[in-house]
Amino acid sequence: MDCIFCRIIAGEIPSAKLYEDDSILAFKDVSPQAPVHFLVIPKEHIPSANALTAENVGVVAHIFETIPKIAAQLGVTDYRIVNNCGEAAGQTVHHLHFHILAGRNLGWPPG
Ligand code: 5GP
Ligand code: ZN
Repeated sequence: MDCIFCRIIAGEIPSAKLYEDDSILAFKDVSPQAPVHFLVIPKEHIPSANALTAENVGVVAHIFETIPKIAAQLGVTDYRIVNNCGEAAGQTVHHLHFHILAGRNLGWPPG
């Protein structure tokens, strides 16, 4: 398996887990860009937002349902949710993931 996030799901690569259930996993980003920076991913290998379909998109709703709960546990109410779709947009890991950034003022527009 050459997908680093699938390897994290499988437990082959350690991660600082924040939340896990049957269909999603949340863990701290190894290279945090803000005081709070975690990732939420589906356990199903979906390469990017471009690969979402009517059949698999339900997990995105579950991710968005779960993000506020994790944020609350971390003590933040203001945060940014980021999805980089495609390499020109900054996607480096080709397994759908949402970044949650918080704990500092976040500039807009992003770079
Ligand atoms: P992307 O650039 O694809 O939107 O985001 C990928 C993110 O995954 C980056 O923020 C990067 O720091 C994070 N990342 C890459 N490899 C690992 C890893 O092995 N463990 C963790 N926790 N995060 C990783
Ligand atoms: Zn994967």
